[in-house]
Amino acid sequence: MSAPASPHTSFLHLPDHRPFGPRRPRLTRLRCLASLAPSASGASPANENHLIQTLCAHGLLARAAALLQGLPAPTQRTYESLLLAAARAGDAALAAAVHRRLEADPVFRSDPFLSTRLIDAYATLSALPAARQVFDEAPVKNIFVWNALLKALALADHGEEALTRLSDMCRLGVPLDSYSYAHGLKACIGASASHAPASARVREMHAHAIRRGYGLHTHVATTLIDCYAKLGTVTYAERVFAWMPERNVVSWTAMIGCYAKNECPGDAIELFQEMMASDADLVPNSITIVSVLHACAGVNAIGQGKVLHAYILRRGFDSLVSVLNALMAMYMKCGCLEIGRSIFNWIGRRRNVVSWNALISGYGIHGFGRESLQVFEEMTKEGISPNIITFVSVLGACSHAGLVEEGKKIFESMVEYNVTPRAEHYACMVDLLGRAGRLDEAMELIQSMRIEPTPQVWGSLLGACRIHGHVEYAEMACSHLFDLEPRNAGNYLLLADIYARAKLQNQVDVLKELLEEHALEKVPGCSWIEVKKKLYSFVSVDKKNPQVEEVKKKLYSFVSMDNKNPQVEELQALIGEFVTQMKSEGYVPDTGSVLYDIEEEEKERILLGHSEKLAVAFGLINTSRGEVIRITKNLRLCEDCHSVTKFISKFTEREIIVRDVNRLHHFRDGVCSCRDYW
Ligand SMILES: [Zn+2]
Ligand SMILES: [Zn+2]
Repeated sequence: MSAPASPHTSFLHLPDHRPFGPRRPRLTRLRCLASLAPSASGASPANENHLIQTLCAHGLLARAAALLQGLPAPTQRTYESLLLAAARAGDAALAAAVHRRLEADPVFRSDPFLSTRLIDAYATLSALPAARQVFDEAPVKNIFVWNALLKALALADHGEEALTRLSDMCRLGVPLDSYSYAHGLKACIGASASHAPASARVREMHAHAIRRGYGLHTHVATTLIDCYAKLGTVTYAERVFAWMPERNVVSWTAMIGCYAKNECPGDAIELFQEMMASDADLVPNSITIVSVLHACAGVNAIGQGKVLHAYILRRGFDSLVSVLNALMAMYMKCGCLEIGRSIFNWIGRRRNVVSWNALISGYGIHGFGRESLQVFEEMTKEGISPNIITFVSVLGACSHAGLVEEGKKIFESMVEYNVTPRAEHYACMVDLLGRAGRLDEAMELIQSMRIEPTPQVWGSLLGACRIHGHVEYAEMACSHLFDLEPRNAGNYLLLADIYARAKLQNQVDVLKELLEEHALEKVPGCSWIEVKKKLYSFVSVDKKNPQVEEVKKKLYSFVSMDNKNPQVEELQALIGEFVTQMKSEGYVPDTGSVLYDIEEEEKERILLGHSEKLAVAFGLINTSRGEVIRITKNLRLCEDCHSVTKFISKFTEREIIVRDVNRLHHFRDGVCSCRDYW
């Protein structure tokens, strides 16, 4: 979609300024047209053709179909109008009638243009067998006819067959064009159940396109970016985007979406800014806006989000529910619950299941479980059917608020709404039970699962074991996790942490050896903060890396992702001051999570270098009093950072909102909204 349509745009594209004014004369004219039809038999064929086309354009299909029957010589344009209208109106009978008429027409029987239109119409009407039959029987199969079939197959999710037909094209020497490649690439994703074969197929098709000179074609390259985005190979998408000689708004949007979907929200925002600055003629579409809003939500970039909000209002994008849903979700994820709620109210009767889900999860991440449940109830009362995501959101909300019994009831009620629990719902339940200390029940639930538990499910159990120090279940969870996710260092480290807290140093050593042996690396802790609409990122480096060793005497672990962050020493000094103050009030640094055999003092240094502490200090120095400090963390907030942030919020009288991977922590006056339950 290139521009937002007015919500009131009618099918006839009538202006809609006044409810009745302009519509009347047009309707009267249409009635005249329709009443003319029966008496038109005496009119010339040219007139009759024109009349059918006009009737089709106005959706008066019954009259048009009746006229077609007696028409001696329909023109190509008449057939086309009828097929387009049939597809638009979902009228399969009309499409079939036109098909029959066409087969008996000596002039147009083998017209490839009309074969294409017929295939398109059947595809839109979900009649793939008929589309296939038209193709198979088409006497002339030019590239457009082939492409129509590929498109029909892609639309019907028959990726495998689309690929077979593509290789037929190559075998028969039909030269592929940009559309063939674009449909083929989509088929590669659709045809592959899992990641690896899809990736291999896309790369193969990419190579093929390059050999035939289509690699940099705007349409093909844009589709490639979309495919690589789906496969999570951001660097490939970046390369394609960088080499494109010409980019349109769809290409920019594809690349922005690729970043937003693949956890590079900062890059998505930056690229959007670059797009807006690069060419005044490039106008973002609703998909661009939604992607950037997701990115803003991803890094708590509320300043950017507000700029976008103003743009949405200026450009009239607020007529689109998809945009409003994303806007509302952005505010809620950034900690502005009230603004999110008011947008939800403002959407009014146009709200859909996505709007409701956003509200439920918005309350959930804030820890307002009861409100989430209430919204869920309102939603079902309004007759909106909850979907898979609704249940993930509502169960998550129960989990953050410790509402065990309520969550169990919701979980059991899923069947009543015809939603079969999936692994993600079980993961939520295991999290809910486990977090509340009901580990035996969580374990029983896993054992009762009728689908194979995913890493997410075992991961929830492992997380709960860490909170409650349960070694036995942790080992059990890891025996599955190490098989399912052999390269995920996070699982090894969590288990090591559990062992360390249980004073099982030998086991810790074994795990560390395993990590080194397999050269596994932990996802570094990363925190973002937006100051004056610019995004800053901080990374914790708590491993022994030679470069860090060099500087660790001065600052243990500070790496700026954009390498431009000033004030390193100032940040460290500031945090040091807070910690000294805290120690005088009885605080003991929680060094349990630091797994190196180093002096206690060194461990404390590592804790000081946690990314969220650096981000908090950066926020304190660079924002004015009264401003809320908003931080996003890519992992779970650690205990020590939680305690330190609570202290800082009181000591400096600042509100600090940290959103970690699970939920939102709102620190105010020495207390966190999670009440230390996260
Ligand atoms: Zn921390
Ligand atoms: Zn908290």
